[in-house]
Amino acid sequence: MTIFTIHARRVADGVETTFGYDNQTSMFLRADGTPVILSRPMQFGEAEVVSVNQPGRKGDIKTLKISLGLSCNYECGYCSQRFVPHAEQTNPGDVGPFVAQLTANLPSAPGRIEFWGGEPFVYWKTLKPLAEALRALYPAAHFNIITNGSLLDFDKNAWLEQMGFSVGLSHDGPGYHARGADPLDDPEKLAAIMDLWARMKPLGRMSVNAMMHRDNQSRAAVQAWLQARFGADVPIGEGAYIDPYDEGGMAAVLRDPAEHMLYRARAFSELRQGRVANFSIARQKIQGFIDSIRNQRPASSVGQKCGMDKADNLAVDLAGNVITCQNVSAAAVAPNGQAHKIGHLTDLPSVKLKTATHWSQRRDCAACPVLQLCQGSCMFLEGPLWEAGCNSAYSDNVPFFAAAIEYLTGFTPYYIEGDFRDDRKDLFGRVRGVPTAKQKRVIEIHAVPA
Ligand code: SF4
Ligand code: SF4
Repeated sequence: MTIFTIHARRVADGVETTFGYDNQTSMFLRADGTPVILSRPMQFGEAEVVSVNQPGRKGDIKTLKISLGLSCNYECGYCSQRFVPHAEQTNPGDVGPFVAQLTANLPSAPGRIEFWGGEPFVYWKTLKPLAEALRALYPAAHFNIITNGSLLDFDKNAWLEQMGFSVGLSHDGPGYHARGADPLDDPEKLAAIMDLWARMKPLGRMSVNAMMHRDNQSRAAVQAWLQARFGADVPIGEGAYIDPYDEGGMAAVLRDPAEHMLYRARAFSELRQGRVANFSIARQKIQGFIDSIRNQRPASSVGQKCGMDKADNLAVDLAGNVITCQNVSAAAVAPNGQAHKIGHLTDLPSVKLKTATHWSQRRDCAACPVLQLCQGSCMFLEGPLWEAGCNSAYSDNVPFFAAAIEYLTGFTPYYIEGDFRDDRKDLFGRVRGVPTAKQKRVIEIHAVPA
């Protein structure tokens, strides 16, 4: 059954057509009912439908996320961790007992270990012995760390290289002023960051991770800014629009339909012009959506975007507390009233993830055309924060959805008919546009040439 009719136009000659799309079965059909691409159906496992009444479990851990603590030397306005109550501080003395707990309770080595702050290098005295012990224990594990780069120095860089880390440097390019002081403006910090870049670039083990928000709406501007500092081939990670977790996050979301339309139009235009090719999200989203159609991925197999609903993704602190994800603490409570501390490393079979809500339990996700790209906003948000996160996610995914369809068919989608929210049917403000005259001109220039 096709549940969406997508109206699309070919830019070159203005020819109109429609496509049928079913987000539940990933069928994508021409107007005459024939498939747009040859399918190669694959077998997919069912996603766990996690909710407070159906708690998620943990076991057979493949990705281990270790939270060193939420302290940071910066105060980014939209940081997801800003108002999270901190659990008790950890220290180097916690490393030995923590490693012993891991050894006793993980029957096999995790393939990937992520070290999280706050800013992880605030915890250098703990991070160093911890990573060295885990490297000895799990020699083949992929190590990953996300840092703002401000506490790096040549010795730490050499250590990161030698320990086999991949590093994500958090930086929003021209939108960095929303985060505060820019380490790239400080000669000493800049020298340390560039030393790390010089070491890691040839190994393919460093990216610059940027987030989109109201003060940072153009991926092309971010790419150009980062290219000017790190070179033309700088890989840009993350790259999605932020989820709002508090009033700081709410201040960074788009404010009205006109802003949403403009954001979508700009993002789509930049994709078409090939100006955001360094963003891994562009390739992942477009290729991922095409693969979902080619492989006929059913919605029932789609888990949450961050993967923290999965049994084999485990977030822990150094006291062994199992937590919802790396962005919260054992002392925090989720918006649904459930504790973010969901169990303990010493008793993984008893872990109960009750803070999360799978997308299938949300009001709009099952009937959302971009479900296969979005995979639901943050799984523990509720109320106005959830609504704002969902609105941001829709506008963030529409351009990738449109670009994938244009790539597959040569036609640019602009309107979707179906049984879903009326305010989301017009993709770029062309049909029932609400933008101001000035914004409308930008949309008409960039989005869907008549
Ligand atoms: S855009 Fe909103 S409704 Fe659509 S899948 Fe994402 S979170 Fe769900
Ligand atoms: S639950 Fe997932 S999306 Fe939400 S803050 Fe944690 S990692 Fe991010």
